[in-house]
Amino acid sequence: MRIGHGYDVHRLVPDRKLILGGVEVPYEKGLLGHSDADVLTHALMDALLGAAGLGDIGRHFPDTDPAYAGADSLKLLEQVVELIRQKGYRLGNADCTVIAQRPKLASYLPAMQENLARICGVEPDQINLKATTEEKLGFTGDGSGISAHAVCLLLP
Ligand code: MG
Repeated sequence: MRIGHGYDVHRLVPDRKLILGGVEVPYEKGLLGHSDADVLTHALMDALLGAAGLGDIGRHFPDTDPAYAGADSLKLLEQVVELIRQKGYRLGNADCTVIAQRPKLASYLPAMQENLARICGVEPDQINLKATTEEKLGFTGDGSGISAHAVCLLLP
């Protein structure tokens, strides 16, 4: 087995869509980034790449590359899953936490879970999702941004 960890942050700004786990969440702001800035999917990708010893998403999908401008992060996840497969691994399970003061995410988690599981080729219960606030502390607490953590196990 191989363990991986991923962490990502994006800033919340007006006039952007808020995409988390491939789901558009209605909110007055969205995440700023070169791609669709799907912070949850990015954390999961980094966990998968880390577990496989394949570096990080910055190495595979540089934000200086115009090819990834506005990219659908689920498509990038698809490529990461293929890299993992080529290395002879499959996802055992992942556990992810999104940290956001607002909006409330609980009702959107099942749709995110379904998206991520479908792309990873696993059952939904192999990708656990959680959402929490940070009690109004720090940059997530004051609404400046959203962060996400992910850990995963890869199996041979
Ligand atoms: Mg990112």
